[in-house]
Amino acid sequence: MTRQCEIQVLIKCKSKHVTVERNAGKSNVWKHFGIIKVDGESVGYVKCVSCDTLMKWKSCDGTSGIKVHTESCTKRSVHYCYGTLY
Ligand SMILES: [Zn+2]
Repeated sequence: MTRQCEIQVLIKCKSKHVTVERNAGKSNVWKHFGIIKVDGESVGYVKCVSCDTLMKWKSCDGTSGIKVHTESCTKRSVHYCYGTLY
């Protein structure tokens, strides 16, 4: 089992073992998250494409947990990136 800190190290050093794949799911959360794969194997983590946060996720978990993150993250990044536009 690959641990979160190990995956973070692999991502940080841009290891070619790690890929971030788009989930084909219909939910909007998949515009904000990619599924982490190590050597092509799903390791039970997803990564927020806006802030690089790693979260534990399995398909049986559904999207509610990561949706909470996209809501707070979007607010943060919109505020940060677009200033007074919104
Ligand atoms: Zn985020």
